Amino acid sequence: MYDGPDSYILTGRTKENNSKYDLIVVGGGPAGLAAAIEAYQNGLQDILVLERDQELGGILQQCIHNGFGIHQFKEQLTGPQYAGRFIEELERIGIVYELGTMVLHITKDKRIQAVSKEYGYQTFYAKSIILAMGCRERPRGAISIPGTRPSGIMTAGTAQRYINIDGYMVGKRVIILGSGDIGMIMARRMTLEGAKVLAVAEIMPYSSGLNRNIVQCLHDFDIPLLLSHTITDIRGKDRVESVTISEVDENKQPVQGTGVDYDCDTILLSVGLIPENELTREMGVVMDPHTKGAKVNQWMETSIEGVFACGNVLHVHDLVDFVTEESQRAGRNAAKYVLGESMRKKTTSTHIVTEAGEGIGYVIPQMIVKELSDETITLSMRPTGVYTDAELLVKGDGKIIKTTKKSYMAPGEMERIKIDRSMLCGDIGTLTVEVSKE
Ligand SMILES: Cc1cc2nc3c(=O)[nH]c(=O)nc-3n(C[C@H](O)[C@H](O)[C@H](O)COP(=O)(O)OP(=O)(O)OC[C@H]3O[C@@H](n4cnc5c(N)ncnc54)[C@H](O)[C@@H]3O)c2cc1C
Repeated sequence: MYDGPDSYILTGRTKENNSKYDLIVVGGGPAGLAAAIEAYQNGLQDILVLERDQELGGILQQCIHNGFGIHQFKEQLTGPQYAGRFIEELERIGIVYELGTMVLHITKDKRIQAVSKEYGYQTFYAKSIILAMGCRERPRGAISIPGTRPSGIMTAGTAQRYINIDGYMVGKRVIILGSGDIGMIMARRMTLEGAKVLAVAEIMPYSSGLNRNIVQCLHDFDIPLLLSHTITDIRGKDRVESVTISEVDENKQPVQGTGVDYDCDTILLSVGLIPENELTREMGVVMDPHTKGAKVNQWMETSIEGVFACGNVLHVHDLVDFVTEESQRAGRNAAKYVLGESMRKKTTSTHIVTEAGEGIGYVIPQMIVKELSDETITLSMRPTGVYTDAELLVKGDGKIIKTTKKSYMAPGEMERIKIDRSMLCGDIGTLTVEVSKE
């Protein structure tokens, strides 16, 4: 049990009337659940999960389609089924969690302030913290679409929640802006619920979602995907009545005279996700401007020792299976940190810095502590364009140390490369990942 600062006035209590924990996980989505379970399996028992929603499972509870768990369980599960496996395990091993509890502030010295209906304003203390707050969707205001502001315009995730959890149908004739995975999944869902999806308009010349969703959600239902197109007008007073969709040029500017009008009552936006990092920024963690998440090392540890980040709050993932794997790494290393088995000797160790080279948007982790653990290091990244028959090169100070052939790569699909620690011997200072078309 952590017996940290006594000078604070303890106002909080949990189901166990406790406010000091070895590990506190913020967010009870798939990332938080996997991290908490893994920390337990690596020797920590004194763990608390704080979740603002009324149930555990995060966004997966509204994803009732299948396709989850192919890598983790070699099975096709729905979102609630996938989350359910972790919730059952969490409950079986007895990890404490509080629902309806919104974390408001976290300080550098790992003091957490939260509020809930049941317990009011609470303060918790932790030896280590895992940030697993997920992400939210970009709304209309983030992309400045012209036109009037009637009802009937919402994010694809909001529509998903209304339909799959609350049981409300959101519209009959639908235009979807953006070809992110959530938008494409909602194109199929709306069709199955009896709506007519007129088109999915995408400003880029390629889809920003997984190839499998283009096939299974659009092609299989004859829903047109209009690449290099965007909405240039919205009409309607109380409710959306029609939109204009125009072609865009290579600078993403609408091409005059290409506008086509569509009569519709609903517009769903699927135009990107933003990691929920207000708490992270406020506590002073060093952030990555490309991922909009924390900068981490190979243990998923942020710039504040003992504070880890994983899942969509770290960088946007397209498959929850990889969220789980990454979060298990965070959980395992949080346990090592608390139990003092840590391999860190921060004062003496130096870092290898990772860099996104030609054709790559970002690389996670952003740094690798040289006193390495035995673990293989997984580098995660996104290409910035569509590539066929290309290679991913990993270079240590300019020298190629690994080459991976790729028949197809696109920005909508995260790439991963495993690096064996033996490849990082010597005094490499920078590890660069780049795309080669040779
Ligand atoms: C609308 C939507 C639909 C998606 N659909 C799919 C899909 O079909 N397939 C797929 O593989 N992936 C999908 N994703 C991606 C999906 O988010 C990830 O696969 C996975 O859910 C990420 O897990 P996570 O735990 O990081 O985040 P989340 O599942 O978002 O969980 C984060 C949790 O943290 C909680 N939280 C946040 N802030 C606080 C706070 N301050 N205090 C307390 N709790 C907090 C949230 O309530 C939430 O429960 C979707 C994402 C969104 C946004």
